[in-house]
Amino acid sequence: MKLANKTALITGGNSGIGLATARLFVAEGARVAITGRDKARLDAAVEELGPNALGIVADATDVAATEAAVVRAVAQFGKLDIVFANAGISASTPVGGTSLEVFESVLKTNITAVFFTVQAAAPHLNDGASIILNGSVISVLGNPGYAAYAASKAGVRAMARVMASELSPRNIRVNVVSPGGTSTPIWNRAAPTPDAVTALEARISQAIPLGRFGKPEEVAKTVLFLASDDASNIQGAEIFVDGGATASPAGAPIFRG
Ligand code: NDP
Repeated sequence: MKLANKTALITGGNSGIGLATARLFVAEGARVAITGRDKARLDAAVEELGPNALGIVADATDVAATEAAVVRAVAQFGKLDIVFANAGISASTPVGGTSLEVFESVLKTNITAVFFTVQAAAPHLNDGASIILNGSVISVLGNPGYAAYAASKAGVRAMARVMASELSPRNIRVNVVSPGGTSTPIWNRAAPTPDAVTALEARISQAIPLGRFGKPEEVAKTVLFLASDDASNIQGAEIFVDGGATASPAGAPIFRG
Protein backbone atom coordinates (compact mmCIF):
# COMPACT_ATOMS: atom_id res chain seq x y z
CA MET A 1 0.00 0.00 0.00
CA LYS A 2 1.44 3.34 -1.06
CA LEU A 3 -0.11 5.49 1.69
CA ALA A 4 -0.04 3.24 4.76
CA ASN A 5 -0.34 5.33 7.96
CA LYS A 6 -0.61 8.57 5.99
CA THR A 7 -3.18 11.24 6.75
CA ALA A 8 -4.75 13.28 3.96
CA LEU A 9 -7.05 16.27 3.59
CA ILE A 10 -9.02 16.58 0.34
CA THR A 11 -11.08 19.70 -0.25
CA GLY A 12 -14.13 19.05 -2.41
CA GLY A 13 -13.98 15.36 -1.56
CA ASN A 14 -17.68 14.56 -1.89
CA SER A 15 -17.85 14.49 -5.70
CA GLY A 16 -15.96 13.87 -8.93
CA ILE A 17 -12.16 13.92 -8.86
CA GLY A 18 -11.95 14.58 -5.10
CA LEU A 19 -14.16 11.60 -4.24
CA ALA A 20 -12.32 9.31 -6.68
CA THR A 21 -9.07 10.36 -5.01
CA ALA A 22 -10.48 9.77 -1.53
CA ARG A 23 -11.49 6.22 -2.59
CA LEU A 24 -8.03 5.49 -3.93
CA PHE A 25 -6.27 6.99 -0.90
CA VAL A 26 -8.36 4.90 1.52
CA ALA A 27 -7.66 1.78 -0.57
CA GLU A 28 -3.95 2.61 -0.32
CA GLY A 29 -4.06 2.74 3.47
CA ALA A 30 -4.59 6.46 4.21
CA ARG A 31 -6.92 8.14 6.66
CA VAL A 32 -8.74 10.82 4.70
CA ALA A 33 -10.65 13.94 5.73
CA ILE A 34 -12.88 15.28 2.97
CA THR A 35 -14.59 18.65 2.83
CA GLY A 36 -17.44 20.20 0.87
CA ARG A 37 -20.43 22.44 1.40
CA ASP A 38 -23.13 19.84 0.74
CA LYS A 39 -23.60 17.80 3.92
CA ALA A 40 -25.82 15.14 2.36
CA ARG A 41 -23.25 14.36 -0.32
CA LEU A 42 -20.46 14.38 2.29
CA ASP A 43 -22.39 11.94 4.46
CA ALA A 44 -22.98 9.65 1.49
CA ALA A 45 -19.29 9.77 0.60
CA VAL A 46 -18.18 8.95 4.15
CA GLU A 47 -20.69 6.11 4.33
CA GLU A 48 -19.11 4.65 1.20
CA LEU A 49 -15.49 5.31 2.22
CA GLY A 50 -15.80 3.73 5.66
CA PRO A 51 -14.13 4.33 9.04
CA ASN A 52 -10.90 5.77 7.65
CA ALA A 53 -12.81 8.74 6.26
CA LEU A 54 -14.08 11.87 8.00
CA GLY A 55 -16.49 14.32 6.38
CA ILE A 56 -16.28 17.99 7.37
CA VAL A 57 -18.72 20.59 6.12
CA ALA A 58 -16.57 23.59 5.25
CA ASP A 59 -16.83 26.27 2.60
CA ALA A 60 -13.32 26.63 1.22
CA THR A 61 -13.86 30.37 0.69
CA ASP A 62 -14.41 30.82 4.44
CA VAL A 63 -10.94 31.07 5.97
CA ALA A 64 -12.11 30.40 9.54
CA ALA A 65 -14.08 27.34 8.41
CA THR A 66 -11.05 26.08 6.51
CA GLU A 67 -8.81 26.50 9.55
CA ALA A 68 -11.38 24.72 11.71
CA ALA A 69 -11.60 21.87 9.20
CA VAL A 70 -7.84 21.35 9.33
CA VAL A 71 -7.87 21.36 13.14
CA ARG A 72 -10.72 18.83 13.16
CA ALA A 73 -8.97 16.53 10.68
CA VAL A 74 -5.75 16.65 12.70
CA ALA A 75 -7.61 15.98 15.96
CA GLN A 76 -9.21 12.90 14.42
CA PHE A 77 -6.34 11.45 12.39
CA GLY A 78 -3.09 13.21 13.40
CA LYS A 79 -0.83 15.61 11.53
CA LEU A 80 -1.25 15.76 7.78
CA ASP A 81 0.99 14.11 5.20
CA ILE A 82 -1.06 15.02 2.13
CA VAL A 83 -3.26 17.97 1.12
CA PHE A 84 -5.18 17.83 -2.14
CA ALA A 85 -6.57 21.35 -2.70
CA ASN A 86 -9.15 20.20 -5.20
CA ALA A 87 -12.37 22.16 -4.54
CA GLY A 88 -13.22 24.28 -7.54
CA ILE A 89 -16.04 25.74 -9.56
CA SER A 90 -16.53 26.71 -13.16
CA ALA A 91 -18.66 29.57 -14.47
CA SER A 92 -19.24 31.27 -17.79
CA THR A 93 -17.52 34.68 -17.86
CA PRO A 94 -17.51 35.93 -21.48
CA VAL A 95 -16.21 39.39 -22.32
CA GLY A 96 -19.33 41.55 -22.54
CA GLY A 97 -21.55 39.36 -20.38
CA THR A 98 -19.97 38.97 -16.98
CA SER A 99 -20.76 40.49 -13.60
CA LEU A 100 -18.07 41.33 -11.07
CA GLU A 101 -19.77 38.99 -8.61
CA VAL A 102 -19.50 35.91 -10.82
CA PHE A 103 -15.95 36.71 -11.91
CA GLU A 104 -14.79 37.18 -8.34
CA SER A 105 -16.59 34.06 -7.10
CA VAL A 106 -14.48 31.94 -9.45
CA LEU A 107 -11.24 33.58 -8.32
CA LYS A 108 -12.25 33.34 -4.67
CA THR A 109 -12.95 29.60 -4.86
CA ASN A 110 -10.26 28.54 -7.30
CA ILE A 111 -7.29 30.66 -6.17
CA THR A 112 -7.87 32.50 -2.90
CA ALA A 113 -9.36 29.47 -1.17
CA VAL A 114 -6.54 27.27 -2.43
CA PHE A 115 -3.97 29.64 -0.91
CA PHE A 116 -5.78 29.74 2.43
CA THR A 117 -6.21 25.97 2.46
CA VAL A 118 -2.46 25.57 2.18
CA GLN A 119 -1.86 28.33 4.73
CA ALA A 120 -4.26 26.70 7.19
CA ALA A 121 -2.66 23.29 6.70
CA ALA A 122 1.00 24.39 6.77
CA PRO A 123 1.50 24.39 10.57
CA HIS A 124 -0.16 20.97 10.76
CA LEU A 125 1.90 19.26 8.06
CA ASN A 126 4.55 16.71 8.80
CA ASP A 127 7.91 17.53 7.25
CA GLY A 128 8.11 15.65 3.96
CA ALA A 129 4.41 16.17 3.25
CA SER A 130 2.98 16.46 -0.25
CA ILE A 131 0.58 19.17 -1.41
CA ILE A 132 -1.24 18.78 -4.71
CA LEU A 133 -3.24 21.61 -6.26
CA ASN A 134 -5.86 21.00 -8.94
CA GLY A 135 -5.21 23.01 -12.10
CA SER A 136 -6.76 22.61 -15.55
CA VAL A 137 -5.95 22.48 -19.27
CA ILE A 138 -8.14 25.56 -19.55
CA SER A 139 -5.27 27.62 -18.11
CA VAL A 140 -3.54 26.97 -21.44
CA LEU A 141 -6.13 26.39 -24.16
CA GLY A 142 -7.91 29.74 -24.48
CA ASN A 143 -11.44 28.30 -24.35
CA PRO A 144 -13.94 31.10 -25.06
CA GLY A 145 -16.10 32.09 -22.09
CA TYR A 146 -13.61 30.90 -19.49
CA ALA A 147 -11.58 34.03 -18.66
CA ALA A 148 -12.03 33.83 -14.89
CA TYR A 149 -11.61 30.05 -14.72
CA ALA A 150 -8.54 30.08 -16.98
CA ALA A 151 -6.97 32.91 -14.98
CA SER A 152 -7.69 31.09 -11.73
CA LYS A 153 -6.05 27.87 -12.89
CA ALA A 154 -3.02 29.68 -14.35
CA GLY A 155 -2.79 31.37 -10.96
CA VAL A 156 -2.81 27.98 -9.27
CA ARG A 157 0.18 26.91 -11.35
CA ALA A 158 2.08 30.11 -10.56
CA MET A 159 1.21 29.88 -6.88
CA ALA A 160 2.37 26.26 -6.66
CA ARG A 161 5.85 27.28 -7.74
CA VAL A 162 6.04 29.95 -5.03
CA MET A 163 4.77 27.53 -2.41
CA ALA A 164 7.29 24.92 -3.55
CA SER A 165 10.07 27.45 -2.90
CA GLU A 166 8.70 28.43 0.49
CA LEU A 167 8.11 24.89 1.72
CA SER A 168 11.20 23.15 0.32
CA PRO A 169 13.16 23.79 3.55
CA ARG A 170 10.68 21.46 5.26
CA ASN A 171 11.00 18.92 2.43
CA ILE A 172 7.35 19.59 1.60
CA ARG A 173 6.54 19.14 -2.08
CA VAL A 174 3.93 21.22 -3.94
CA ASN A 175 2.78 20.08 -7.37
CA VAL A 176 -0.16 20.59 -9.70
CA VAL A 177 -2.33 18.01 -11.41
CA SER A 178 -4.05 19.52 -14.44
CA PRO A 179 -6.91 17.46 -15.81
CA GLY A 180 -8.36 17.77 -19.27
CA GLY A 181 -12.05 17.16 -19.83
CA THR A 182 -13.03 14.60 -17.19
CA SER A 183 -16.48 13.12 -16.64
CA THR A 184 -17.71 14.67 -13.39
CA PRO A 185 -20.69 16.74 -12.23
CA ILE A 186 -18.76 19.96 -12.91
CA TRP A 187 -20.12 19.72 -16.47
CA ASN A 188 -23.76 19.62 -15.33
CA ARG A 189 -24.14 23.36 -15.84
CA ALA A 190 -22.99 23.20 -19.47
CA ALA A 191 -24.73 19.86 -20.13
CA PRO A 192 -27.76 19.36 -17.89
CA THR A 193 -29.10 16.09 -19.39
CA PRO A 194 -27.41 12.73 -20.18
CA ASP A 195 -27.85 13.36 -23.92
CA ALA A 196 -26.26 16.79 -23.56
CA VAL A 197 -23.34 15.22 -21.67
CA THR A 198 -22.79 12.68 -24.44
CA ALA A 199 -22.88 15.41 -27.10
CA LEU A 200 -20.56 17.71 -25.15
CA GLU A 201 -18.03 14.96 -24.47
CA ALA A 202 -18.09 13.91 -28.15
CA ARG A 203 -17.52 17.50 -29.27
CA ILE A 204 -14.65 18.23 -26.89
CA SER A 205 -13.09 14.80 -27.56
CA GLN A 206 -12.54 15.91 -31.15
CA ALA A 207 -9.77 18.16 -29.79
CA ILE A 208 -8.14 15.45 -27.64
CA PRO A 209 -5.48 13.27 -29.31
CA LEU A 210 -6.57 10.19 -27.36
CA GLY A 211 -10.11 10.98 -28.51
CA ARG A 212 -12.04 10.73 -25.27
CA PHE A 213 -12.90 12.35 -21.96
CA GLY A 214 -10.92 11.24 -18.95
CA LYS A 215 -12.23 9.42 -15.91
CA PRO A 216 -11.88 10.89 -12.43
CA GLU A 217 -10.03 7.70 -11.43
CA GLU A 218 -7.30 8.53 -13.96
CA VAL A 219 -6.71 11.89 -12.29
CA ALA A 220 -6.82 10.21 -8.87
CA LYS A 221 -4.01 7.84 -9.86
CA THR A 222 -1.82 10.81 -10.78
CA VAL A 223 -2.64 12.52 -7.50
CA LEU A 224 -1.68 9.29 -5.71
CA PHE A 225 1.65 9.29 -7.55
CA LEU A 226 2.37 12.90 -6.55
CA ALA A 227 1.25 12.21 -2.98
CA SER A 228 3.42 9.13 -2.58
CA ASP A 229 7.14 8.61 -2.13
CA ASP A 230 7.28 7.56 -5.79
CA ALA A 231 7.33 11.31 -6.54
CA SER A 232 9.91 12.12 -3.85
CA ASN A 233 12.03 14.32 -6.12
CA ILE A 234 9.20 16.04 -8.02
CA GLN A 235 8.81 19.63 -6.86
CA GLY A 236 6.87 22.55 -8.38
CA ALA A 237 5.76 20.47 -11.38
CA GLU A 238 2.51 20.38 -13.30
CA ILE A 239 1.32 17.06 -14.68
CA PHE A 240 -1.40 17.14 -17.33
CA VAL A 241 -3.88 14.28 -17.39
CA ASP A 242 -5.51 15.30 -20.63
CA GLY A 243 -5.05 12.71 -23.37
CA GLY A 244 -2.53 14.99 -25.08
CA ALA A 245 -4.81 18.03 -25.42
CA THR A 246 -2.14 20.51 -24.35
CA ALA A 247 1.04 18.74 -25.50
CA SER A 248 0.04 17.49 -28.94
CA PRO A 249 -3.14 19.23 -30.08
CA ALA A 250 -2.27 18.67 -33.74
CA GLY A 251 -2.79 14.95 -33.15
CA ALA A 252 -6.45 15.41 -32.23
CA PRO A 253 -9.15 13.63 -34.26
CA ILE A 254 -10.34 16.95 -35.72
CA PHE A 255 -7.04 17.24 -37.66
CA ARG A 256 -7.00 13.69 -38.99
CA GLY A 257 -7.56 13.22 -42.70
P1 NDP B 1 -17.27 18.39 -9.08
O1 NDP B 1 -18.27 19.46 -9.33
O2 NDP B 1 -17.68 16.96 -9.16
O3 NDP B 1 -16.55 18.61 -7.69
C1 NDP B 1 -16.24 19.88 -7.19
C2 NDP B 1 -15.99 19.73 -5.70
O4 NDP B 1 -15.60 20.98 -5.16
C3 NDP B 1 -17.23 19.27 -4.96
O5 NDP B 1 -16.85 18.32 -3.99
C4 NDP B 1 -17.73 20.54 -4.30
O6 NDP B 1 -18.42 20.22 -3.10
C5 NDP B 1 -16.40 21.23 -4.03
N1 NDP B 1 -16.52 22.66 -3.85
C6 NDP B 1 -16.85 23.62 -4.75
N2 NDP B 1 -16.86 24.83 -4.18
C7 NDP B 1 -16.52 24.64 -2.88
C8 NDP B 1 -16.37 25.49 -1.77
N3 NDP B 1 -16.56 26.82 -1.87
N4 NDP B 1 -16.01 24.94 -0.59
C9 NDP B 1 -15.82 23.63 -0.46
N5 NDP B 1 -15.95 22.76 -1.47
C10 NDP B 1 -16.31 23.27 -2.67
O7 NDP B 1 -16.12 18.67 -10.15
P2 NDP B 1 -14.68 18.02 -10.43
O8 NDP B 1 -14.45 16.83 -9.61
O9 NDP B 1 -14.55 17.94 -11.87
O10 NDP B 1 -13.75 19.24 -9.94
C11 NDP B 1 -12.68 19.08 -9.04
C12 NDP B 1 -11.56 19.99 -9.47
O11 NDP B 1 -11.07 19.55 -10.75
C13 NDP B 1 -11.93 21.46 -9.65
O12 NDP B 1 -10.91 22.28 -9.10
C14 NDP B 1 -11.98 21.63 -11.16
O13 NDP B 1 -11.73 22.95 -11.55
C15 NDP B 1 -10.89 20.67 -11.58
N6 NDP B 1 -10.95 20.28 -12.99
C16 NDP B 1 -11.99 19.50 -13.46
C17 NDP B 1 -12.03 19.15 -14.80
C18 NDP B 1 -13.15 18.33 -15.37
O14 NDP B 1 -13.27 18.24 -16.61
N7 NDP B 1 -13.98 17.68 -14.55
C19 NDP B 1 -10.97 19.58 -15.73
C20 NDP B 1 -9.94 20.36 -15.12
C21 NDP B 1 -9.94 20.69 -13.81
P3 NDP B 1 -19.73 21.08 -2.60
O15 NDP B 1 -20.53 21.40 -3.81
O16 NDP B 1 -20.38 20.18 -1.60
O17 NDP B 1 -19.15 22.29 -1.94
